[in-house]
Amino acid sequence: MSEVILGVDLGGTNVKTALVSRDREVLGKDTRPTQAEGGPEAVMAVMVEGIDAVLDAAGLSRSNVLAAGFGAPGPMNWQTGVIFSPPNLPGWRNVPLAEEMRKRLGFPCFVDNDANVACYGEYWLGAGQGVESMCLLTLGTGVGGGIVVLGQLLRGIDGTAAEIGHLKVQRDGRLCGCGGKGCLEAYGSVTGMVRTAVEGIEAGKQTILTNMCGNDLDKLTGEMVSEAIGQGDEFAKWVMHETGVWLGLGIASLINLLNPEKVVLCGGMTAAGEVLFDPIRKTAKEQTFEVPGNRAQIVPAGLGDDSGVIGAAGCALARYEEG
Ligand SMILES: [Zn+2]
Repeated sequence: MSEVILGVDLGGTNVKTALVSRDREVLGKDTRPTQAEGGPEAVMAVMVEGIDAVLDAAGLSRSNVLAAGFGAPGPMNWQTGVIFSPPNLPGWRNVPLAEEMRKRLGFPCFVDNDANVACYGEYWLGAGQGVESMCLLTLGTGVGGGIVVLGQLLRGIDGTAAEIGHLKVQRDGRLCGCGGKGCLEAYGSVTGMVRTAVEGIEAGKQTILTNMCGNDLDKLTGEMVSEAIGQGDEFAKWVMHETGVWLGLGIASLINLLNPEKVVLCGGMTAAGEVLFDPIRKTAKEQTFEVPGNRAQIVPAGLGDDSGVIGAAGCALARYEEG
């Protein structure tokens, strides 16, 4: 009887499911709409459907499953598997997700923070394979983070560790979504990048972005910045460069603090490629001690958009084996 592990990435838009063998072979994948508007019951039904679909396609049944891992948006208690009230899942309030899914599926279920599982996925099967210590940053609307030290996720006493997006990079800086000021996320996320662009345009900088958003700066998007760079717009290039410098500053602190082998970057913004990675690497190098700065490689994710779903399976296996 084959023993398999399931990973589920619970996002506000899509539920992704992956079936992975114990020796890290991906046996199948499934993506379907979350139906978040239906509340927890509807979303849990979608996850059960996704799981049964990947098992079916592989010719397996629930009795072949060792455990399932769920990467979900926080805040949460990863040990009890209770999700508190994630902003992108309406109607969720203190949902005991691990217990509810175990009741529905009949095998052990583990819940972890989505950025942590993405980090574990890259460590387990992606760009961080074979390393001892690494960090991961997810660069999207916000900046998420995960840290693996000595092969283990660094969670902290309450499970809230690795909030890399809320490293302070500026005293009395921009207001962040968390209520604090000067967080990395307020500068290094897509939202932060758009804000940098808007501030520049308001200060009188000339750029094709003004036309691209139809003179309505509220409509400016990260994609427009990338598009303007493609068309050779100098200001847009500066905006991306500036975003990379802020990220490089935060990453330099991580490198000095943790001495990791790799810093893996994932999320929509990494599609920008070298225009983003160059200033990140250059700034990180300038702002770190020589030994950890030379050691740490800053690289794109190896699993693309699948870091989370694969990592959820990896985390579940690790926790299952720990007993
Ligand atoms: Zn913050």
